[in-house]
Amino acid sequence: MTHLFHRHCHAELPTVSSGDGVYLFDTEGKKYLDGCGGAAVSNLGHSHAAVKKAIIEQVEAIPFAHTGFFTNQPSEALATLLTDLAPDNLDHVYFVSGGSEAVESALKMARQYFVEIGKPNKTQFIARRQSYHGNTLGALAVGGNEWRKENFRPLLAEVEHISPCYAYRDQRESETELAYSHRVADELESKILAMGAENVMAFVAEPVVGATAGALPATTGYFKRIREICDKYDVLLILDEVMCGIGRTGTFYAFEQDDIVPDLVTIAKGLGAGYQPIGAVVVSNKIYDAMANGSGFFQHGHTFMAHPVACASALATIKTILSENLLEKVVSQGEKLQRKLKEALLPLDYVGDVRGRGLFIGVELVADKLTKTPLPAATEANKVVKQLAMKNGLMCYPMAGTINGREGHHILLAPPFIINDEQLDELVSKLKMSLIEAANGWT
Ligand code: PLP
Repeated sequence: MTHLFHRHCHAELPTVSSGDGVYLFDTEGKKYLDGCGGAAVSNLGHSHAAVKKAIIEQVEAIPFAHTGFFTNQPSEALATLLTDLAPDNLDHVYFVSGGSEAVESALKMARQYFVEIGKPNKTQFIARRQSYHGNTLGALAVGGNEWRKENFRPLLAEVEHISPCYAYRDQRESETELAYSHRVADELESKILAMGAENVMAFVAEPVVGATAGALPATTGYFKRIREICDKYDVLLILDEVMCGIGRTGTFYAFEQDDIVPDLVTIAKGLGAGYQPIGAVVVSNKIYDAMANGSGFFQHGHTFMAHPVACASALATIKTILSENLLEKVVSQGEKLQRKLKEALLPLDYVGDVRGRGLFIGVELVADKLTKTPLPAATEANKVVKQLAMKNGLMCYPMAGTINGREGHHILLAPPFIINDEQLDELVSKLKMSLIEAANGWT
């Protein structure tokens, strides 16, 4: 009997023992190609020498010193690097230990900002359906994945949600891409007006939706319009890049491709690349200055914030991404992977769409390609595909409940940035094999 409280209480999982590049090995010696980086985490694979060295050196120098007493070199250097890589007005970084903590911190920053500038009535968030922002109570409340909230609804703040930007399902045939982008973005304006702009603090969205919609980028012009609406009504724009940030989509910050600048950006996962748990909020001068020139104190904090070892690890990760030109590799390998997946999978009756940006790709499963009817929840395609892929030596990230309630299935792919052409082929053929085996149960 295990004493470890697994998230699936009865899960029987292989025990991982080691990693080498894009591969993981279990204690039986079985080899798994990491096609999803866990959940878009392991950007540098599982055995990067420079990152391991940085961690060891930091542990030997000083593993921990509470931020109430000391600052530390790796967190100062990491904050400088992250702001150097961001547009000019994003000049401050607040470090925490993961994605949900980053989102909680951003939500509270938004609130405190409006208190500091004398608009305490602004208390409401707007977010999007089919989004995930984490599992702590604030992050769960802004998330738009209803089934995750069911048990906890009495504990959650009321948050209003608008449609996601989901062209595959919602763009009308008669509509240009830009007209579609504006139609969905304008839902934000209608919602703000309905709630009263004086009550709305911030709009929260993932630039490329990850877990709940399978690497879904917004259409051209969507976020520009969103930015205009936020500015018009003094509503902050919080972009959640916990999954899609740190180069995953081919630019360091995903929002660069939408040609806008947010007020707060959350990052995590790829920031530590799995070598250490770390998250952060990148903060605009407007918000930082309101606190610095106001109360002088952000009423928040965690024991392990700006942890020296986590920051040293993230610093080495980002330096590696830059020195090894891995953003270019994300773009080139991502294009190849998307093309290969389209060739191999779109001919299958139950693969409706392959989409994404960089090495962040979603494969949407459907019951009927013409009508785009989702696979029924009863197929449990997410569980079956995951199990069969693991049997076939592939880690991929299938999800259910992505469209209505518990319906809708997709598979998220987010391999390490170092994946080579041969490994891309292995990923595609193992995924295809697993899908065909799984589909025997539902076709
Ligand atoms: N935000 C997004 C977009 C995520 O994908 C996730 C995790 O999947 C989170 C927040 C929460 O991050 P964590 O699991 O590190 O708390």
